[in-house]
Formats: sequence, C-alpha cells, structure tokens
Amino acid sequence: MMKSLDALEKIAKQLDPNREERRYIRTLIIQHTEKFLEKLPNEKAYSNPDKSNTSWDEDFIEEGSDPSQVVRLTSRQIDHDGINAASGFDMAYIPGGGVYTSALADYWSDITNLYSGVFFANPGAVRLENQIISWLFSLVSYPKTACGNLTSGGSIANLTAIITAREVTQLKAKDHAHCVIYLGKQTHHCVTKALKMAGLGEVILRYIELDNGYRMIPAQLEKQIKQDQLNGCIPWMIVASAGTTDTGAVDPLEAIGSIALKNKIWYHVDAAYGGFFLLTSTGKKLLKGIEAADSIVLDPHKSLFLPYGSGVILIKNGAGMKKTFNDTAAYFQDFEPIDMNTSPADVSIELTRPFRGLRMWLPLKIHGLAPFRAALNEKLILSKYFYKQILTFGFQSSGPPELTITTFWYPMDRGENNDFNKELIQNIQQEGKIFLSSTMIENRFVIRLCVLVFRTHKREIDIALKNIVQHKDELLKTWP
Ligand SMILES: *Cc1c(COP(=O)(O)O)cnc(C)c1O
Repeated sequence: MMKSLDALEKIAKQLDPNREERRYIRTLIIQHTEKFLEKLPNEKAYSNPDKSNTSWDEDFIEEGSDPSQVVRLTSRQIDHDGINAASGFDMAYIPGGGVYTSALADYWSDITNLYSGVFFANPGAVRLENQIISWLFSLVSYPKTACGNLTSGGSIANLTAIITAREVTQLKAKDHAHCVIYLGKQTHHCVTKALKMAGLGEVILRYIELDNGYRMIPAQLEKQIKQDQLNGCIPWMIVASAGTTDTGAVDPLEAIGSIALKNKIWYHVDAAYGGFFLLTSTGKKLLKGIEAADSIVLDPHKSLFLPYGSGVILIKNGAGMKKTFNDTAAYFQDFEPIDMNTSPADVSIELTRPFRGLRMWLPLKIHGLAPFRAALNEKLILSKYFYKQILTFGFQSSGPPELTITTFWYPMDRGENNDFNKELIQNIQQEGKIFLSSTMIENRFVIRLCVLVFRTHKREIDIALKNIVQHKDELLKTWP
C-alpha cells in the first residue's frame, strides 16, 4: 500500500511544480503575453475565423506535454480568430480592454487561492471588497446602509437585483400575471432573461415610448402606470438604463426616480455601460438622480477597463439584500448597519467565488483615480470628435453621442440605405483593421462605434475614420 502511495504522490506532485519548473512555465507565458502586448498597437481588431483550425479536436491524454508546445498550440487556437478585445481598434459592442495590473492581481489572488466569500476565512480580503463597495456607494451617492456585491458581470448583477426586489417586495407567485415591469425597447436583453431565471417570466412587460434620443419619456411612463393601477395591475418595477447598449442613451434618471418614489415602485438602474462615467463631470450631470434607484448595476469590465469577469450590484436596502440571500440567519436585525464585515457569500448567489476585489483594488491603488478619470473624459471627447468628423464625409447620424457610442449610416437613395450600410460594415469587418458592430434602430440599419477600450486614443480614431471612409468610397465605386 505504501509503495503505491509513493507512486501516486510522485505523479500527483506534478501539480505542484518546483521553483525551476515554475520559472520555466511562467517565463513562457510572460514572453508570450509580452509579445502580444508589443504587437498590439498594429494588430488587427478582428480576424475571420479560420475554419480549418481543428487543433481543439484533440482529447486530453494521461501524459502531460511540453509547456512550450502547449503554449504554442493554445495560442494558435485562441489568439488569432475573432475579436481582439484588448485592441484599441475594438470599437464594437461595449469593449473595455482589460488593464494589465488587473491581470497581475488575478495572478496573485489565484496563486494564494484565498477565499473571500466568508469573513472569517479571510477578514482582510472581505474588508477589501467591502471597501470597494463602500467607495462605489460614494460614487452613486448611496447611504452607508446600502449593500453590494462584486459579481462576474452585469447579467448576474441584474439577476441579483431582480431577485432582491422580488423578495423585498414579497411578490407572490399568484401576483405575477398582474405584475408590471416598465422598460425601454433598448433595455439590455439580460434583464428579460433575468426575469425568466427569477421565475418572473409571466410578468407584464410595458415598453415605454422613447424620445428622439432613445430615452424613456417620463410622461408616458406615468400615464402607463396610472392606467395599470386603474386596471388592477401591480406596477412593480421600473428599469432605466444609464447608457443603452445600442446607442448609449441615458434615461432621465431623476424624473423617472420621482415617479417611482411617488408610486412606490422598485426603481432599478442598469448602468453597466455608463456607470463609471460618474467619475467625470459630464457623466455626473448625465446620470444625475441615479441615487434615487433601489438597485444599480455597474460593470467594471466595461467603463473601468478591467478584464472580463467584473460586475457590481448595489442595493440601497442593504438589510433587504442580506435577508434575500441569507435565509437562515435569524440574527440579522432589519436595521443592522451594513459593515465592513459583511460576508460576500451572504449577499450573493454564489458561495465559492474568485477573490474579485483584488483585480479592481490593485489598479485603483497603483494608478490612482486620475488615469481612469482622464481615460473616460478622453473617450467622451474622442466620441464627439468622431461624430463631427464622420458627418463631414457625408455620413448621417441620429445625433451626437451622449456617452461614447455613435450610430451612423451612409445615406443612399430610398430602399438602398440598409443594403449599402450592411455591405459597408461587412467589408470593414472582413478587413478587420478596426472592429465595429451594427444594430437596427427603427428599421434602420446603423453602424455603431463605441469608444471604450482604454487603448483607444486619437491615433486609433483617426485610423478608424480613414478606414471607414476608404471602404465607403470603394463600395460606392462598385455600387450599381
Ligand atoms: C453589457 C451590458 C449588460 C450585461 O452585462 P455582462 O457583463 O455582459 O453580463 C447589461 N446591461 C447593459 C446596459 C450592458 O451594456
């Protein structure tokens, strides 16, 4: 028996490389990522998937492989196809880039594998996360009795908000069919997805009319609520967006907030995209009134430029959030202040989770707030610059960007608009120098440019402009 134990130990110990082995593997990864970063400024932002690439068909086998070969093969598989989401030329969807210091924080927290779910397991880590949450309270002007959690992203944060609202308002299954949620046509689809996951798939969705800037019209919202009240429905939740994914529109948060308050409706603000613009004075003005929300979603992997895997949910009624996710704790008093010792697992869907705080903490501490603020202000100005420039080349737009998304199209004769712009974006994507996306707004096919990667500066915007105009001119030449 002892002999087989020795043999097993010898094989099992391969999971714990020694100093030399660690250095070898680490150096390979560092060299690889350094090469990636050095080439990045001139790399394409999008590459059409190579369909012949089938190295993933290989099964895992008992024997390990030479790390340098593994790195080479893995890189071939993941580093070349599709979107280069670290690139300053990635201007599609809502990018962010992924700051370097955050990656090092992940390295640190993964090596120590410290558990940040429960206070006693690592009081320091939990306090650190709660300090971040507390900083976010000040960013959105929330009281200290609020509560929050670092999630994997905006979708889980939205789900957490909806579950909390359901529990705090004690919504009963028998009421679901009369329960009304007010939202906009451009509300992110993860909200309706979350409703289904929260067992609220039967609720009534009321899409409130938008103004010509794609913002919810408060008067229409109020009218609809009155009508629903008269019809015996339960106006239950209003979902406002602080930066829609399609156009970056910010709903009039203050006006909607007072309607929610007056009618005692849960007010949820999805600020996954726009939230961290609160670090700028432009953003502060735009998002005025956000503090009226009962729940707020932020996405540090968007407007705080962190690598993917970072979302935030903030709930104003902290005791309510604790009660929602910690059923068994009778010792929680309703008005117990939310303190630095609140265990993330007690206010979360998750129990075991990565130490998410460090990847946000380290960059904020090492760089300070100033570069984040500057980058956000820079993106706001770059967006205005792009908008003004693109119009001078004959393109049209639905208006100047509120945040950092510009939607535009090249006007053709009637009926051809959509076809032309569809082909234009296909050509731009095919080349892949820059990566833009498109969307449909009121049956109009529009091209969408979102400036949010921290590596996007004036150079990248000028190259993007040149690229778009070049493709437009080429397409015009061959257009029938
Ligand atoms: C990205 C986004 C989401 C979803 O967040 P994930 O982090 O992708 O899960 C929700 N709402 C808005 C407005 C978004 O931009």
